[in-house]
Amino acid sequence: MQVLKRSVYCGLVDKNLLNKEITLMGWVNKRRDLGNLIFIDLRDNTGIMQLVLNTEKSQELINIAQEIRQEFVLAATGIVTKRAPEAVNSKINTGEFELTVTNLKILSKSKALPFQIDEAENVDEELRLKYRYLDLRRKRMHDLISLRHKVIFAIREFLNSKNFLEIETPLLSKSTPEGARDFLVPSRLQEGKFYALPQSPQIYKQLLMASGMDKYFQIAKCFRDEDFRANRQPEFTQIDMEMSFIEQDDIINITEGIFKNIFEKIYNKPLNLPFARRSYQEVFSKFGSDKPDCRFGLEIQDVTNLFEHTELKFLKSTIEDGGKVGAIFVKNHDFSRSEISNLENFAKTNLKVAGLLTLKITDSKTIESSVAKFLPTNFILELQKFIPDTKSPGTIFIISDKFKNAWEALGRLRLELGKKLNLINDNEFNFLWVTDFPMFEWNEEEKRFYATHHPFTAPKDSLDTKNLENVRAHAYDIVCNGEEMGGGSIRIHDSQMQSKIFEILGISKKEAEYKFGFLLEAQELGFPPHGGLALGLDRLIMLLGHTDSIRDVIAFPKTQSGICPMMQTPSSVDEKQLQELNIKVNKKQV
Ligand code: ASP
Repeated sequence: MQVLKRSVYCGLVDKNLLNKEITLMGWVNKRRDLGNLIFIDLRDNTGIMQLVLNTEKSQELINIAQEIRQEFVLAATGIVTKRAPEAVNSKINTGEFELTVTNLKILSKSKALPFQIDEAENVDEELRLKYRYLDLRRKRMHDLISLRHKVIFAIREFLNSKNFLEIETPLLSKSTPEGARDFLVPSRLQEGKFYALPQSPQIYKQLLMASGMDKYFQIAKCFRDEDFRANRQPEFTQIDMEMSFIEQDDIINITEGIFKNIFEKIYNKPLNLPFARRSYQEVFSKFGSDKPDCRFGLEIQDVTNLFEHTELKFLKSTIEDGGKVGAIFVKNHDFSRSEISNLENFAKTNLKVAGLLTLKITDSKTIESSVAKFLPTNFILELQKFIPDTKSPGTIFIISDKFKNAWEALGRLRLELGKKLNLINDNEFNFLWVTDFPMFEWNEEEKRFYATHHPFTAPKDSLDTKNLENVRAHAYDIVCNGEEMGGGSIRIHDSQMQSKIFEILGISKKEAEYKFGFLLEAQELGFPPHGGLALGLDRLIMLLGHTDSIRDVIAFPKTQSGICPMMQTPSSVDEKQLQELNIKVNKKQV
């Protein structure tokens, strides 16, 4: 029997192949039986080509064609012909042509599908993930997975050109302090002991700098056993980098270069460099977030002093308790009653604050509000000093509470307003560096400090201060359109400083020795100044691919509860395996 060999991809058939014999291979996307003519849309990863079978010509073709159903895998040989003008399909690349089939072979059959491939988007996600290979046959999914490949390729190409070495670090590792729970792997050979899957290659990459590797990168798998949160995956990918003898600017330049290369190679679009840089303090006070979406304005204004002497008791008492009053002014938009009440409901259900106060400034420059009568007569003039824009009509949204809480609430309200008022341009990529993060965060419940970034980050200010909350870290994040794309820091390379940080973080000498003794020792054996950054690859592909779900950019993702419905992981294991590991499971799930 003649063995057919693919000569062209379905989506690549063009006028150069007109009247030539070719062989295509792929899946049956659609089949239409018109009696004497059968049309088949054959699909592969490049696109679709229409096959036409004239059943009057060959009994053998009729027999094969009648058996064919959706998603059968075929090999088809024939002559590329031009379609009649009225039959041209402008929606596909190959729409002017069809393949007049002379030889057809079924390579694989398909049972009835659990769902129609092109309707997968509307199918329950669990079912899609159970049959992920069917889901991945969709063009949209092919495009996203191929985008991911292209981005990784552009990154490798760029970092290679800058003399970075791609170095793999172990997955069977020891707990690293990125702040999440570890995935543990029991050791058979070292009874009773466990490896931890790395939350990031953080310590290894620092030790690679101690090894003199100078510039490292890795497309690294990271594992964090966190509770359910949308768009988190227990295993995810980082573009992990580290460099020696550098400053913050060097890391920023390299990272910007990566983005530039991605945009040039994938979109053929120049990217305006350098990206804006703002301190954490500035972005938090203007946007109530450390990852602001700067595609639109609506900055938060501090109006605490404006309300200090008003009769509005609830604002006054917040201020007297050390709280703050913040406002967002929306100019020239006449909010309807129902718009305002929707925003009040949004605040009630989504923001952890007592309430949302609105003041409407009308054309006649008067204030309409439930609290208007409590405001002093010169209030509008005073207001204009704080927010000059209020000379125009518009609405002010006011929230008061402890500073952090009030500003976070205003930040979320700002995003809601941006969406509701259509202020966000979906086609813009707005990059921003946020620098000078606080070094420590106080945890009121545990009465101890945590490192805002991680304990290996170098401080920017002196630690000889009573007010450790004000110490800035040599840490920086890169943000795009309100999403954190990645972050990093200049590291500590001196063991005394490292020990001091451990002490501030409440890590005892003994614990530090047990967990990080090897690092402290390395810091005494010639450790170069160094720093680095990690970019979240999955988030980056989501951004570039315009999708809201992290599961769309990973070939085989887990569900939100950490399950793979296709392979049924996690799963029970044989009793024998457990015995070998000396492990007893208390409650066994069947
Ligand atoms: N290891 C850090 C993280 O995973 C990134 C870095 O500091 O380079 O967030």
